[in-house]
Amino acid sequence: MTAPRLILVLGDQLSHDLSVLREGVKSRDIVVMAEVRDEGTYVPHHAKKIALILAAMRHFAAELKDDGWTVAYTPLDDPDNTHAISKELLRRAEEYDAESVVSTASGEWRLRSLLEHTPIPVSQLPDDRFLCSEGDFAAWAKDRDTLTMEYFYREMRRRHDILMDGDKPEGGQWNYDKENRKPAEPDLFMPEPLHHQHDEVVAEVLDLVAREFPETFGTLRPFWFAATRAGAEAARDWFMTEALPRFGDYQDAMLAGEDFLYHSILSPYLNIGLLDPLDLCRRAETEYREGRAPLNCVEGYIRQILGWREFIRGVYFLEGPDYAERNALNATRDLPWFYWSGETKMACMAHAIGQTRDEAYAHHIQRLMVTGNFALLAGLDPQQVAEWYLAVYADAFEWVEAPNVIGMALHADAGVFATKPYAASGAYINRMSDYCKTCHYSVSKKTGEGCCPFNPLYWDFLLRHRERFEKNRRVSRSYATWDKMDADKQEAYRDSAAAILAKLDAGEAI
Ligand code: FAD
Ligand code: SF4
Repeated sequence: MTAPRLILVLGDQLSHDLSVLREGVKSRDIVVMAEVRDEGTYVPHHAKKIALILAAMRHFAAELKDDGWTVAYTPLDDPDNTHAISKELLRRAEEYDAESVVSTASGEWRLRSLLEHTPIPVSQLPDDRFLCSEGDFAAWAKDRDTLTMEYFYREMRRRHDILMDGDKPEGGQWNYDKENRKPAEPDLFMPEPLHHQHDEVVAEVLDLVAREFPETFGTLRPFWFAATRAGAEAARDWFMTEALPRFGDYQDAMLAGEDFLYHSILSPYLNIGLLDPLDLCRRAETEYREGRAPLNCVEGYIRQILGWREFIRGVYFLEGPDYAERNALNATRDLPWFYWSGETKMACMAHAIGQTRDEAYAHHIQRLMVTGNFALLAGLDPQQVAEWYLAVYADAFEWVEAPNVIGMALHADAGVFATKPYAASGAYINRMSDYCKTCHYSVSKKTGEGCCPFNPLYWDFLLRHRERFEKNRRVSRSYATWDKMDADKQEAYRDSAAAILAKLDAGEAI
């Protein structure tokens, strides 16, 4: 019999049909899983995120053992733990007399490179848990001047035969987004996401995280994420029946005190491998075909998974390891401390950050049009902003976080796929939320003391980048509006923006 190989399974690779497990030999190979401090601390991950990953890893290791695998598992508090993946591999290789390691390629350039440079050879197999391989995305992108998600999505619908009526889109349209921008009303019935009970494994991990990561960001308890595949599937089934039928209508809405609205809250499970993207799309399609959910909601949901999620990953690997370092708009302002504390008089920011601290979750529009929009307008350093997003969300892994932050929210990649910067004044937030009603600032006040900071910062951003954006057809109208404004008004905008930015630079609360 040949020498045993080590099979490395990472914390976001908790899928039984992982390529490396399909390729392994149960009677010979050793599965290596390790809770290493290096991975828990390279950014100050949210306490709930660390707990979710460690608890799910422990459950997954137990399932592999039940399935007949030999698993060498290193808990965080094991005195022999070297706290680095490459050192754990060397330690286990010596212990089991193994000469090689095989893994499924990580979703992060950093880890791919780390494994390439480990003293023991590691071969990395493709991660085929996605619906579009890195190679297929590169082939699709080749020779295209612009990468447009909508065209990619249509091809994915055809390729996977999802929501199709022969070779036409179901209902005659590819995209029902126009029906999906209703602001939510406070008296709508909002389903509460499924709260999972702790088992012994979760309880033990929560104590461990409280003890070992006392300074990390975020509220650990109450903790209601599922840590098993069965739990994640229950959350999936809950979403399909309780929230999907209204998912689309209120997809962009924000309401104070309603952290989840009709969103699925499934991304943490999907991104660590407890749920399968194609299964989610097929189940959503069935809800439509059997008359339980309307087409605009089901199409909207499927577009997020089959379209955006796959597209974003394609961009990350297509653009290469330097992607997360880009800073096309030369933004250099430090991330204000209130991104961590939530202590700001801007109600929208306080809500989005406060909910992020408590739940390790905020939905797409909060991430893009509140915290992301502020970072863009204020010219915050993209790498500091990206580090924040990578740390604070339970679903954050670099392949999905970086294109959303560097590309979509901050335009720091010079528009690889976003045709315009997602810059907006307070009017957008006021239209889509009820935050402004209780804000210290007045959204209708454009300049001066007490004005909504998003208002002058919006114009200041456009002026700072006039050369880059004025010929952009989707932004040029704003420049025409500016040029028609009288000089006093222009000066008031400039002065107000300068005063807000000066406060930020002085570390003062706004
Ligand atoms: P739902 O609203 O229920 O959407 C359904 C699913 O679609 C999600 O579960 C998710 O898997 C997928 N999806 C939707 N939009 C995107 C998108 N833009 N990119 C990739 N997948 C998408 N998503 C992450 O999974 N991890 C991140 O680290 C992350 N960082 C983000 C940072 C910024 C600045 C922005 C604007 C978006 C980010 N997103 C990220 C995308 C999106 O905000 C989350 O996927 C979504 O909020 C997860 O909540 P949900 O499961 O309730 O999503
Ligand atoms: Fe946010 Fe401005 Fe509205 Fe306040 S007034 S909640 S700062 S958009």
